[in-house]
Amino acid sequence: MPFTSNDSTASSSPSLDRGSLRPDCGNCFALCCTALGFSRSTDFAIDKPAGTPCQNLDSDFSCTIHDSLRPRGFRGCTVFDCFGAGQHVSQNLFQGISWRSDPGTAKNMFPAFKVVRQLHEMLWYLAEATNRTFDPDTSHQVNEFRKAIENAMSDTQQVLAIDLDDLHSRVRSVLMDVSEEVRSSYLATGDDHLDAALIPGADLMGKKMRSRSLCGADLRGAYFIAADLRGCDLSGADLLGADLRDARLEGADLSKALYLTQAQLNAAQGDARTLLPADLDRPRQWLNNG
Ligand code: SF4
Repeated sequence: MPFTSNDSTASSSPSLDRGSLRPDCGNCFALCCTALGFSRSTDFAIDKPAGTPCQNLDSDFSCTIHDSLRPRGFRGCTVFDCFGAGQHVSQNLFQGISWRSDPGTAKNMFPAFKVVRQLHEMLWYLAEATNRTFDPDTSHQVNEFRKAIENAMSDTQQVLAIDLDDLHSRVRSVLMDVSEEVRSSYLATGDDHLDAALIPGADLMGKKMRSRSLCGADLRGAYFIAADLRGCDLSGADLLGADLRDARLEGADLSKALYLTQAQLNAAQGDARTLLPADLDRPRQWLNNG
């Protein structure tokens, strides 16, 4: 489906609250545990094909090993974030009728979940872009995208017909505009604290960067796997899609980082001193640290 950001049928009053983009597992038919597949690895103890229920899924859609996922080899489950797609598909698109009570719904429900997850992820970033830009034209553009996506998500067939590649590239463009605007505000004084290695997609795996100022850096898609970012200031740093698996974030300031997600935090290591944006949670596994 061609996707236009000035869709005339879009709602005129989109929600700015990212609360609806947080998972609500109690109102979801465990779509991440059924629709998605995973392979045996350090993140998952078993192979599970897409479209089949996990062997640990209970009849009430809860996980029978929820409290011991990591020690049981299911670290990947503790990192995943559906951005609230699960409850939207379960309750809004399929009106609370589960794939268990009506198996025929699975044919569309599972693919719809995969699409809505990507749409909700875009909404997550667009909501932040709305709050961070001071440019009225950019703000208008961001909000038109948000309204059009929200409108498209009211119907399963519309969801399944969306041209995600086209939408992704157009949303990405406006997110980058906002990123440039935000980052430039952190670099406006001729700041030269950023070294040449700090670029989008940079390979910073295992790099020791303790207590560095990374303010305003464009770190989109950078690989920080097991990097030491303890005590770093990441205010205004663009972290869109950055890989933070096992990155050390103890004492780091991420409170004003750009495009940070819960999944990124869940995959990293931090502690009670790590400063976070107000609408992200401190991962449970961090609570035993520091
Ligand atoms: S282990 Fe639990 S949380 Fe992970 S996929 Fe299976 S049922 Fe879902």
